[in-house]
Amino acid sequence: MSLFDDAISRLEWSRSFADICDARFEALHRPKLLTEVTIPLQKDDGSMEYFTGWRCRFDDTRGPGKGGVRFHPGVDVAEVKTLAFWMTLKTALVGLPMGGGKGGIAVNTRELSETELERLSRGYVRALFPVLGPDLDVPAPDVATGPEVMGWMLDEYERIVGHKAPSTFTGKSIARGGIHGRDGATANGAHHVIKAWLNRQNISDDLTVAIQGFGSAGSLIASLLSRDGHKILAVSDSSGTTYNEDGLDIEGVSQAKQKKGRVDAFKGGEKLDSGSVLTCDVDLLIPAALEEAITLDNVKDIKAKTILEVANGPVSVEAEEQLDKRGVHILPDILVNSGGVIVSWMEWVQGRSGDQWEESEVTRRLHERLDESAQAVFDRAEKEDTTLRRAAYAIAMEALDI
Ligand code: NAD
Repeated sequence: MSLFDDAISRLEWSRSFADICDARFEALHRPKLLTEVTIPLQKDDGSMEYFTGWRCRFDDTRGPGKGGVRFHPGVDVAEVKTLAFWMTLKTALVGLPMGGGKGGIAVNTRELSETELERLSRGYVRALFPVLGPDLDVPAPDVATGPEVMGWMLDEYERIVGHKAPSTFTGKSIARGGIHGRDGATANGAHHVIKAWLNRQNISDDLTVAIQGFGSAGSLIASLLSRDGHKILAVSDSSGTTYNEDGLDIEGVSQAKQKKGRVDAFKGGEKLDSGSVLTCDVDLLIPAALEEAITLDNVKDIKAKTILEVANGPVSVEAEEQLDKRGVHILPDILVNSGGVIVSWMEWVQGRSGDQWEESEVTRRLHERLDESAQAVFDRAEKEDTTLRRAAYAIAMEALDI
């Protein structure tokens, strides 16, 4: 099954108890707009290279499309469509007046110089300009894109339209109209959701934890959980895993990652291969890298009883069916990692109103919205005697009914 078919098939899981009309249910199976472009890039040596880029506005019933732009060699049309589909459910689940979008370029940014990366980012906007805008579709950072890329993209967009338009992109630097607290919003939100879940389950013990992916989301949630007293036994990146049965010093791992570019350069941990992080004997497993980390190939070796999906779509449908049967609780991506889009929405509002909020105000609003959404998912799962994913999908689908 393709990633997209796999993702869409999950809609059926909640169909029997979600209050949504047939026409809207069917509409959620296909994107409203999917654009593919060729982006020419003049390299520093004067030669030309051509890249394929995409933007998908999956659904805009609730408002303009919203979702990141990913720069990664593995980006393809199915991935972009799938990520835009998940954004549609996510914005609906947490009640934002926005739809779902996503974009990307199939590129290995490590092979580009900084000036080439800037030209490519600007080229993306020139090619996709007609489908972007504060009332159309609002991109944000994702894997390998950050405030700098957003800044170049916004600058290119404003050159074309001839006026300021800060709400066209979110995840910008503060100087360009960004919002305080956006950097840590995804991990901060995921941390809030797991705390709400542990409270709900009356679990007050310290947990053992393994985290796949030590990028902006994975490294911050590692620090937050470690600060709470939980023991992070293993963390990984694409190069390898570092493991310590007594708990890793997360500050030390961050320094090693910064200096050497890989977590397994940390001296206080045992070096394991990259995939081992998933099968560690821990209470809580946090996939925070890419899609389909847990599949039929490794599901039988997963030992954690709780999975917190910081990444989008880290568990395949078939693997999830097995985990459900084993009673593993999966806290679903569309709830867990929604902190990023919630704060992005605040940035969009800020840009439109000319207002600016303190970080404490942003965090207060973020937590308030997440508390409400998390409790709604937990209550619905209990009421329908179903999984947290099915409950979250039902709430999101109902919020998309018209
Ligand atoms: P990032 O690029 O900062 O970090 C990704 C990390 O994953 C890197 O450490 C990379 O080395 C690692 N990685 C990649 N392949 C791996 C593999 N096979 N095994 C182990 N590690 C691997 O990205 P991020 O912003 O932290 O995003 C991580 C995930 O969270 C993505 O799925 C993204 O869509 C999702 N997400 C992020 C945000 C956000 O605001 N950053 C919001 C919502 C969802």
